[in-house]
Amino acid sequence: MRTPIIAGNWKMHNTIAAALELVKGIHYGLPWPGEVEVIVAPPTTAISKVADFLQDSYIQVAGQDLFWEESGAYTGEISGTLLQDAGASAVIIGHSERRQYFHETDATVNKKIKAALALQLMPIVCVGETLAEREAGQVTEVVRTQILEGLAGLTTAEVTDLVIAYEPIWAIGTGKTATPQQAEDVHVIIRHIIAEQFGNDAADAVRILYGGSVKPANSKELLSLPNVDGALVGGASLKAADFIEIIKSVS
Ligand code: PEP
Repeated sequence: MRTPIIAGNWKMHNTIAAALELVKGIHYGLPWPGEVEVIVAPPTTAISKVADFLQDSYIQVAGQDLFWEESGAYTGEISGTLLQDAGASAVIIGHSERRQYFHETDATVNKKIKAALALQLMPIVCVGETLAEREAGQVTEVVRTQILEGLAGLTTAEVTDLVIAYEPIWAIGTGKTATPQQAEDVHVIIRHIIAEQFGNDAADAVRILYGGSVKPANSKELLSLPNVDGALVGGASLKAADFIEIIKSVS
């Protein structure tokens, strides 16, 4: 039984005051979510205040990225230890915006996943193809490479502890959503890749989220797919009412 996850990626939005207002809106607007894990990923500056407010809440806090070293002379970077110290229990790794604008590679994603797992910080590992790759029929090849290189050297148990987010890049922030069939097809492919590399137990246990313009109008259909174990939500996670509707649509 895979407990679904609804995670909100706030990206570079929200001052501390706005972050607190948003998280209070979710916490008070939905006192109990049911059998679903709810995670918010505020900008780093707001993590500590948000986590303090959520101490007795079901809502967990995630970082949006981490650096693999624990401490040291790495100006501007945030380690897993520092994220945990601020109150995070999960971390998004390898988001397409980090790959695109900050030159992250599957090799750096791999180091980050290992650093997070070593601290028991739950990695939410993003994979997904561009529109050009989809049109060229390369979806399987692209996600296979991202998964095999990103998860290289992990044990079966470690793979079970992480979460994969399938986020087709052409659907992120564009209003274009993968059709339920497109999403389910790639989630099945990802589970097969995990099964081949890490065994059936890991493939059955690993949670695979869908991300890409998820909103209240499409969440019910996407979240009812057999291999979709939740959603990573960008834009629609910035409004408490919309995020709550998405959480409630987990059946
Ligand atoms: C994301 O950035 O992870 C995302 C899925 O964004 P959006 O929901 O806005 O497409």
